[in-house]
Amino acid sequence: MKAPAAASGSHDPRLAELRERLAVVRQRIDSAVADAGRQAEPPQLIVVTKFHPAEDVERLAALGITDVGENRDQEAADKAARLAELRLRWHFIGQLQSNKAKSVVRYAHAVHSVDRPQLAAGLAKAVRAEQERTGRADLECFIQVSLDEDADGHRGGALPADVPGLAEVLSASPGLRLAGVMAVAPLAADPEAAFEKLAAISARLRSEYPQATAISAGMSQDLEAAIRCGATHLRIGSDILGPRPALR
Ligand SMILES: *Cc1c(COP(=O)(O)O)cnc(C)c1O
Repeated sequence: MKAPAAASGSHDPRLAELRERLAVVRQRIDSAVADAGRQAEPPQLIVVTKFHPAEDVERLAALGITDVGENRDQEAADKAARLAELRLRWHFIGQLQSNKAKSVVRYAHAVHSVDRPQLAAGLAKAVRAEQERTGRADLECFIQVSLDEDADGHRGGALPADVPGLAEVLSASPGLRLAGVMAVAPLAADPEAAFEKLAAISARLRSEYPQATAISAGMSQDLEAAIRCGATHLRIGSDILGPRPALR
């Protein structure tokens, strides 16, 4: 691999831009954390790098980022293979077909979008095979919950009523670790109300599975509301990387 401009220290305007944008987002996170009195347990920042080139991921690593998010298997697999030396934690955050489970468990530290038993079963089988092959750690699994009242504007996820069943499958599967819940705020609604709903779903889940403490919530537009509602993992893309280039 060619030495990246980011690592070589030569003048790199994109590195300077990312450093600045990241600083602004970190400030927003810090002040929301302070307002919420959560300094003792600040959320984990996951930078969503989908559609942006692997070089940007290298730059982010040079700026201290340890966790990155991707939503398409092919793109994530390519970047993770290319950047293996950086030892980043890759979070899969997109809709996932069960037949991609085998690929995802090769690089993913966590899957935030487990929304049906069939996918949980596929991930369980794939991760066990991968653990035999490489001894990889257990796969962190978040149950993605739909916070939409109606099917219109549906942004993926299990219905709240289906969370207990999914939790049972995940917690009973060797190789998987039930981390907690994840949601995307519905487009039309107030994000704070949506994240309060998610917090209640999380509390119910924890009463049954005390280890399932994680709440993956909060994107560029609504990270403050998510922090107020107890988010433990933030997934921030465009406010750090800028508008997503139209690849495909
Ligand atoms: C793209 C994406 C994000 C990041 O969104 P931004 O608005 O760019 O911060 C977060 N979560 C999911 C599930 C995404 O697909």
